[in-house]
Amino acid sequence: GLPIVAIVGRPNVGKSTLFNRLARRRIAIVHDEPGVTRDRHYADTSAYGRPYTLIDTGGFDPEDEDPMKAGIAHHVKLAIDEADVIIFLTDATTSLTSADRAAIRLLRVAKKPVFFAANKADSAKVDAEAFELYREGVETVYPVSSLHGRGIGDLEAAVVDAF
Ligand code: GDP
Ligand code: MG
Repeated sequence: GLPIVAIVGRPNVGKSTLFNRLARRRIAIVHDEPGVTRDRHYADTSAYGRPYTLIDTGGFDPEDEDPMKAGIAHHVKLAIDEADVIIFLTDATTSLTSADRAAIRLLRVAKKPVFFAANKADSAKVDAEAFELYREGVETVYPVSSLHGRGIGDLEAAVVDAF
């Protein structure tokens, strides 16, 4: 099958918005309310002529009785198992949380290519906040605006180069 790219990150960082932009059509549900995307969404798409399957790992369910399944670590582990390439998304307009840091620790030891993208970097002013990720030992940070498209081409190029 096609290479699989999974988007993981906390609720409300913009995973579904990024998914829709990379898929170039509106498939996943995007909503202001955190955690509204309960199921995983799949789309076949391509960048720079290279096709791949994209997964929106939305699945965060605040009502899940199993706290593991309601947490980000569960989705990060699923993505590490299932995907060929992982995009870890943070929100550049807010500070990193302990959940972000826990996910970064898991991803740094994953034997898969991981791209760290800081979303909501709608303008260059926000990039300074995005670079907070460097203090976590991340090698390359991609500031992106999934809403407006800023930085998306660079992220896509890096992702398809990893196949
Ligand atoms: P998810 O829970 O991670 O799937 O996040 P969503 O894609 O549902 O987005 C959560 C909220 O962030 C929505 O109100 C989006 O419109 C908003 N959002 C997503 N990407 C961006 C962005 O690049 N810039 C800004 N300013 N807002 C964004
Ligand atoms: Mg979502």
